[in-house]
Amino acid sequence: MTLAFDNSYARLPDRFFARVAPAQASHPAFIRVNKALAADLDIDPQWLSGKDGLRLLSGQSIAPGSDPIATAYAGHQFGNFVPQLGDGRAILLGEVIDRRGQRRDIQLKGAGRTPFSRGGDGRAALGPVLREYVMSEAMAALGVPTTRALAAVTTGDPVYREEALPGAVLTRVASSHIRVGTFQFFAARRDVDGLRILADHVIARHYPDAASAPRPYRALLDQVIAGQADLIARWMLIGFIHGVMNTDNMSVACETIDYGPCAFMDSYDSGTVFSSIDRAGRYAYGSQPGIGLWNLTRLAETLLPLLDADEAKAIADAEEALSLYAPRFLDAQLQGFRAKLGLDERADGDADLVTELLDTMAANQVDFTLFFRRLADAIEPGEGDEPLRGLFVDPLAADSVLARWRERLGMEQIPAAQRRDAMRGVNPAFIPRNHRVEEMIRAAVDKGDFAPFERLLQLLSRPFDDQPENEGYAAPPLEHERVLATFCGT
Ligand code: AMP
Ligand code: MG
Ligand code: MG
Repeated sequence: MTLAFDNSYARLPDRFFARVAPAQASHPAFIRVNKALAADLDIDPQWLSGKDGLRLLSGQSIAPGSDPIATAYAGHQFGNFVPQLGDGRAILLGEVIDRRGQRRDIQLKGAGRTPFSRGGDGRAALGPVLREYVMSEAMAALGVPTTRALAAVTTGDPVYREEALPGAVLTRVASSHIRVGTFQFFAARRDVDGLRILADHVIARHYPDAASAPRPYRALLDQVIAGQADLIARWMLIGFIHGVMNTDNMSVACETIDYGPCAFMDSYDSGTVFSSIDRAGRYAYGSQPGIGLWNLTRLAETLLPLLDADEAKAIADAEEALSLYAPRFLDAQLQGFRAKLGLDERADGDADLVTELLDTMAANQVDFTLFFRRLADAIEPGEGDEPLRGLFVDPLAADSVLARWRERLGMEQIPAAQRRDAMRGVNPAFIPRNHRVEEMIRAAVDKGDFAPFERLLQLLSRPFDDQPENEGYAAPPLEHERVLATFCGT
């Protein structure tokens, strides 16, 4: 078995990347291979799960056709511009064409130093590798565009953080790893040729329609703006907090990328922050849409020289494109909330209905996921009410929320059973609750017990199904289980 690599990024000019060989793990061992994803990628799952697969996934051997590189990028980290970041602990093995004809990157994360490692060791510790595996696969099952996890292996080599930790490598699959920060890398160097080559590559790879648009680079910008608006709306609708929305962590293919200190919100509060490094709350749940626009504005700035030779015209063009973000996001988010509420049609007052609902949820510390899941059983007044009332600090607040919602439901004639099914199809029962993710990491790192990892992955692969045997995993944390901070994935 060989992989049919076709490495388009490695064919770009030399200044786009550095060629680099992965470090060889001393005693690699499998944690898990994602066989279904391997099959999608046209890689034989049996082969990948065998001895040769392990050598590939641990950096011990370079497969024929692989041309390993670390890509160059810049980025705003917490608002501060860093002109050179780049893949410091990630190595792109190459690209394959999947069964749907889509080009996908295969990247090792944690396989050693690269010319972009700066002070870092290029390694990944086991905990963050397991977190990324579970979170990214859960997002995929929830239907959110995301990078995927193809495999995780331990290296047998320690990684030194505050303490010595087991080292691991995650194999990540993405439509591409090109970021807003990749554009910033060339813009910071006033390398307009590089920008044009990059933009043309992104158009050919991700937005082929833009190539035949009257103004391809404007079409590119429009499509990334729309894609990010839609993506961030998806996050908001499931309570996902990315945690480190730096411009180098924002994919121009509009997939969720870089699962560091990310987490799902339990009780609804737009100010929720988990990341221990986000002290100012820049990337709080409710700030994500605004940060999305801020990041896209940085992308638009890089494209100015391509938009128009006349700078004033280019700026006006970029501003026009950016002005489309807010309406696009708000519409996607409102449409999503309508679906969560079992509503099919648009009606005046829906935005107010949602705002009032969320305000009441915040005031009552209502669990975001459970509320919407349970709502499907309360379409008509009856025994479905009590489980909902139990989520509110003040049960009377639940009664008024339900009354207003049912009044709105009455404006549409949809059979209750049909409405219930539709709601259950968009409101998950299972999300990767932070305390469960931490518990899973502790078991693996402290005890070498990967059973919780396997179990979590299994149940999160069917987030919209009731799973009575896993009911405990649908529950929010008890007071003493609550995890207040997540740490960056280094
Ligand atoms: P992140 O916070 O994961 O988005 O990473 C920000 C930058 O730091 C990227 O350029 C990474 O490649 C780099 N980086 C993070 N961790 C390490 C590490 N352990 N060794 C080398 N570079 C790293
Ligand atoms: Mg990153
Ligand atoms: Mg990261």
